[in-house]
Amino acid sequence: MSTKVQLPTSLKGKTILVAGAAGFVPSTLCEFYLNLDAKVIGLDNFITGSQSNVDILNKYENFTFHECNIYEKLPDFSGVEIDYIFSLASPASPIDFGLIPMEIMRVNSEGTLALLELALEKKARFLEASTSEVYGDPEVHPQTEDYVGHVNTLGPRACYDESKRFAEAMTMSFHKKFGLDTRIIRIFNTYGPRMRPNDGRVIPNFINQAMNGEDITVYGDGSQTRSFCYVTDLVDAIHNVMFSDDPTPFNCGNPDEYTILDAAKFIIKALDSKSKIVFKDLPKDDPKRRRPDLTKLQSVSDYAPKISFEEGIKRTTEYFKSL
Ligand code: NAD
Ligand code: UDP
Repeated sequence: MSTKVQLPTSLKGKTILVAGAAGFVPSTLCEFYLNLDAKVIGLDNFITGSQSNVDILNKYENFTFHECNIYEKLPDFSGVEIDYIFSLASPASPIDFGLIPMEIMRVNSEGTLALLELALEKKARFLEASTSEVYGDPEVHPQTEDYVGHVNTLGPRACYDESKRFAEAMTMSFHKKFGLDTRIIRIFNTYGPRMRPNDGRVIPNFINQAMNGEDITVYGDGSQTRSFCYVTDLVDAIHNVMFSDDPTPFNCGNPDEYTILDAAKFIIKALDSKSKIVFKDLPKDDPKRRRPDLTKLQSVSDYAPKISFEEGIKRTTEYFKSL
């Protein structure tokens, strides 16, 4: 008998709440579930999300949107049945860590708490979107879920890393103390259409610089690595975890690992760009190597990333050109 996740082919009659619906990954997730015929309720305060992402979702009659700050006040959901809650609201770009640290810490702590309490009230299944950042600058490579991390509570990334670690701890506490049906995912670097052109993360930076003939800004000597996942592959991984029956964390991403310098050269070539590479200071605590070990997710599901880096860069470039 197969022990693999049984994925639903339709979610007709089910209601899904997505916190962060105006954002890059969450809006793509909303559209995926709308296409499975679920009713989707989106929440966002637009701190890093955009109205254009909501406009795409508003074309589906099963989508409703509430503009709200989830750590201040959730909408009144009395009388509304909710089956699944996805906790994805949080800024995620390192440039935001210095600009809006309080907002990041509050959404991942107080915001996640509010969503967990709503899940308890509605008897909904709850998924927390954590991050590979919980591993910090890892000493174990590739990173497995049992690695507890190498983090700096006082560093420039701490507002994000530590609040996501807190969100994981709180999610697990709700599971253990109240029996809430919970899932935790640790997302590795994901890119694709609907990211902000000025997001500050490496792929939008490099594509926009290459498109406009500007210098490509490699931080440090570019020998640090990341493993880049195209957004629809990430949504596939999230879906597999949500429909698994395991409350412990799952890495989600694509294990194809690039040095940042190689990623810069790849994008220059793919866009046939005249841009030159320039080297800038490496930010403090920038992780040196990062690659997900996907053994755990692949032991419970048939998940495998489908979109190559080449194809993903092509699609993302088309998106930025269309803006
Ligand atoms: P994003 O910024 O595009 O999306 C996050 C959304 O949350 C935004 O629309 C933002 O406005 C909203 N939001 C933030 N604070 C809010 C609040 N207080 N109330 C209501 N809405 C709020 O970022 P993303 O890259 O799509 O990330 C989505 C989730 O995935 C985040 O939780 C992030 O930490 C996690 N994640 C993403 C990556 C990645 O590579 N993209 C990696 C690891 C983890
Ligand atoms: N980076 C870079 N140039 C940029 C933006 C980022 O060299 O214009 C580097 C950054 O220092 C890091 C990697 O690219 O080593 C990934 O950065 P990103 O901000 O996308 O995400 P992180 O994985 O650091 O959270």
